[in-house]
Amino acid sequence: MTQVVITGANRGIGLALTQLYLDADCDVAACCRHPEEANALHALMDKHEGLELFELDVSSSDAIASLGEALKGRPIHRLINNAGYYGPKGVSLGNSPEDEWQAMFSINCIGPLKLVESLTEGLCQGQGIIANLSSKMGSMADNSSGGAYLYRSVKAAQNAVTKSLAIDLAPYGVKAVALHPGWVKTAMGGPNALIDTQTSAAGLYRVIEGLTSAQSGGFFDYQGNIIPW
Ligand code: NDP
Repeated sequence: MTQVVITGANRGIGLALTQLYLDADCDVAACCRHPEEANALHALMDKHEGLELFELDVSSSDAIASLGEALKGRPIHRLINNAGYYGPKGVSLGNSPEDEWQAMFSINCIGPLKLVESLTEGLCQGQGIIANLSSKMGSMADNSSGGAYLYRSVKAAQNAVTKSLAIDLAPYGVKAVALHPGWVKTAMGGPNALIDTQTSAAGLYRVIEGLTSAQSGGFFDYQGNIIPW
């Protein structure tokens, strides 16, 4: 049985990915900040025995350690670091709020790495794939409009983490990849976004499940196109 761990599984892209992996008969450890309020996940639990809910705030090292303990001994085949936070919109140069930037860094970059550290044994046992939900906005080459200092910088930092993980864990058969999900209609993407969560998740699923060793350490969009760093 394939064991999948997904963060931010209660809504948006994380929920769509959870649904897809359950439909593929995988066991899914769906992590979210408030499992008791995760109504969509509770509805899925009625239909899927392989779904377990775990409380996880990815900015809490205690919560990450607890999840590591709860999953100890299990091979982990997929870790999808999906939870993300865009932070305040429309922040102009000269007004970047440090507290928000730190919170964003913690959720988008530090949390994903600490989670890998907490689950390394299981990932190695499962020869797993670490899929980090990044953004094109973290690409230097794609930045032609400036601004968005906070979000661009935390996703770029996450990309650096992904690349090192791919190199360091390759000897254990573990792969790591940075993924841009497209511009997706979620709370973060907003109503004018180009694609729905099902389209994004289906594409991400294909890229993750088809990932080769040669592609590990790369940066791809949900259609499998390479994104320049
Ligand atoms: P949403 O804003 O719809 O959902 C964000 C998810 O992250 C929620 O489940 C939220 O949980 C969770 N989350 C936020 N903070 C924490 C935390 N501290 N601990 C645990 N979970 C947390 O985002 P999307 O579904 O749109 O985005 C998913 C990923 O894709 C993110 O990493 C995002 O940066 C990336 N992305 C999205 C794009 C888009 O167009 N939507 C474009 C490019 C990248 P809660 O419900 O508790 O708040």
